[in-house]
Amino acid sequence: MYPPLRGFLRRCHEQFAADDSGAVANYIPELTRANPAHFGVSLATIDGHVYEVGDSSTPFTIQSISKAFVFALALETLGHERVESVIGVEPSGEAFNSIRLTGDNKPFNPMVNAGAIACSGLIHQHEGDGAFDLIHRTLGRFAGRELDVDEAVFASERATGDRNRAIAWLLRNYSVLGDDVDAVLDVYFRQCAVLVTARDLAVMAATLANCGRNPLTGEQIISSYVVARTLSVMTSSGMYDYAGEWIYRVGIPAKSGVGGGIIAALPAQLGLGTFSPRLDSHGNSVRGLKVCEALSAHFGLHVLNRSDDVRTCIISDYHAAGVSSRRNRQNFELAILQERASDIRVIELVGALSFAAMDYVSRRLDGEGPPGELLILDFRRVPSATTAAARLLAEALAGLAARGVTLIVAGFEKASQLWQAIHAERNVLPKLRHFSLLDDAIEWAEDQVIYRYGGFEGLAKTTHLSEQALLAGLCPDEIDHIAAIGLARAFKTGERIIAAGDPAASLFFLQSGMVSVKLRSGVRLASISPGMAFGEMALIERERSADVWADTAVQCLELPLSAYASFRKSHPASGELIMRNLAALLARRLVLANAKVDLLSAY
Ligand code: GLN
Repeated sequence: MYPPLRGFLRRCHEQFAADDSGAVANYIPELTRANPAHFGVSLATIDGHVYEVGDSSTPFTIQSISKAFVFALALETLGHERVESVIGVEPSGEAFNSIRLTGDNKPFNPMVNAGAIACSGLIHQHEGDGAFDLIHRTLGRFAGRELDVDEAVFASERATGDRNRAIAWLLRNYSVLGDDVDAVLDVYFRQCAVLVTARDLAVMAATLANCGRNPLTGEQIISSYVVARTLSVMTSSGMYDYAGEWIYRVGIPAKSGVGGGIIAALPAQLGLGTFSPRLDSHGNSVRGLKVCEALSAHFGLHVLNRSDDVRTCIISDYHAAGVSSRRNRQNFELAILQERASDIRVIELVGALSFAAMDYVSRRLDGEGPPGELLILDFRRVPSATTAAARLLAEALAGLAARGVTLIVAGFEKASQLWQAIHAERNVLPKLRHFSLLDDAIEWAEDQVIYRYGGFEGLAKTTHLSEQALLAGLCPDEIDHIAAIGLARAFKTGERIIAAGDPAASLFFLQSGMVSVKLRSGVRLASISPGMAFGEMALIERERSADVWADTAVQCLELPLSAYASFRKSHPASGELIMRNLAALLARRLVLANAKVDLLSAY
C-alpha cells in the first residue's frame, strides 16, 4: 500500500462502496441509465501526481461542476465588474434549481442554476455562436485533455428542462439575459453534458488548487485572482443548501453535480474528484461526500485549520567571518576580514515567503549592525513570495537602506517569480546589488570591506616567488633554482589555463592577476590571487580535477613536474618542506570547509 495516500484512498473506496443509500438523479430521463454501483475516486497533487481508485476512468456528465469553471471563464474573459453586475455571490440556502432571485433581481450566486445560466448568457453575449466551443475547450484545458459531450444527455435535458427554461425566462424578464434565451439554454445544457471521469475532475480541481496552473500540462489557465473568487463561491455555495454544513464539517472548497461527481480543491495541496451516481436529498453524491469528509477528518485538512512555524524560513543567519567566499584571500586580506567580521551579515532564507514569514524576517533584520554594515539576503531556497511578503520585504529593506546598510540580494535570476514579486514594489524598494550566486555576493562584500580598510594597496603589484606560501621556508638559492626551471606563462582574460581530466603534469605560481578554479557545472571552488599556487594538487594526483580560468590577464610561473622531480632529488629537505607547506594549505581549506558544514548542520 505505497504511497500511504493511495492506501488511504483504497480503504475509503472499499468502506464506502458498501453504502448504497441515495438514488440516481431521474429528473433528466437519460441520467437514470447511470449504473448506481459505479464508484471512482481520484486525487491529483499539485506536483502532478494522480492517484486513482475504482471506476476512476468511467465517463459521466459533469453537470453542475461545470458551473465553477464557467464562472471562472466568465471572470477571466469579461472581468469581475461585468460578471458581478449580473450575478451575486451570496449563498442562497436553497436547492440548486431554485427559481428565487435576490431583492435586486439577480441570481444569488453562480453555483446555483440561475447564476450558472446567467454566466453562460454572459459568455454567449461575448462569444456568440462560439460560446459553447470556448467553454468546451476551456473545460478540456482544465482537465488536460479534450473532452467529449454526451449528446443523449444533452438532448434529454433539453427536451425536459422546463424548470431551467423557467429560470432563464425569469432572467430574461429582468434583462439579465438578452433575446437569445434558447441559445443560452443550449449552451448551458450542453456544458452540463460534457463527459468527464473522476480522474479528470481531480486534475481540474488540482488546477484550481494550484493557482490556475494545470499541474499535469503546466498550462496557466486562469489568473490567481480568478481562482480566489471561484474557490470563494465554491466554499460558500458549492454544495447548495448543504453549503453551511459542508464548510463546517469538511472545510474544503467543493462543487457537486447531479451526474454523481464532486470536486474538492484544497489550495496549494490537492484536487479531489469522486464519482458515484447515488445522490442524497440535496443532489450531492452520497459516497463522494463521505470520501471528502474522511479525507478532511483523517488528515485534518480543513482550510481554516492551518498553522505554520514561520521561524523556519531563516535557515541561517551569520557573520561572514569564518565562512568566507571561495576566493582564497591573502594573509593581509584575511586579517582585515577577521577584524571586521561583523561588518558582513548573511541571512539565508528557505521556503515560499508568506506574509507571516516575511514579517518575522523583517523583525530579525531590525538588529542594529555596525555602521556601514553589508547585509546579504540569500534566496536560493526560496521558490516564490506572495505579494504581501514582497511588500513587507521592500519596506524593511527601505528602512535598512535609510540607516546606511548596504543591501545585497543573491540566489535568484531576474526572470524568477520571486524577483517579479519583489520588483513589483519598486516604488519603495531601495537600491539593491544583485548576484545570482551567494558566493559571488560574499566575495563582493568582502572586497568592499577590504577596500574600506586599505587592503587593496597590496593587490596591484606582482609578487615574487619568495612570497609563495607553498615555497615558504626555502632559501633564496633554492627559490632562484625553481625560478630557473619554471616557464614564464601569460594568459588573457577568460582563457582556460587548466582543463579537468587532463594529466596533471605541472603546477603554477600566480604572480599577477586572478584565476578561478571551477567545476564543469560552473560552480566556483576557489579564486586565487598573486602569491598563491594553483594546480598544486599535481604534487599528489595524476589528473586535473577541475578547470582553472584566467579572470584577468594573468602572469605565472609554470613548474613542470619533470623539472621539479630532479630539483627534489637534489634538494630532498626542501622537497619535504614543500609537501608540508601543501599540507598546511590543505588543512586551512579543511578548517574553512568544516566551518561551513558546522553552520549548515546547526540549522
Ligand atoms: N444540468 C443540471 C440542471 O440544471 C445540473 C444540476 C446539477 O448538477 N446540480 O438541472
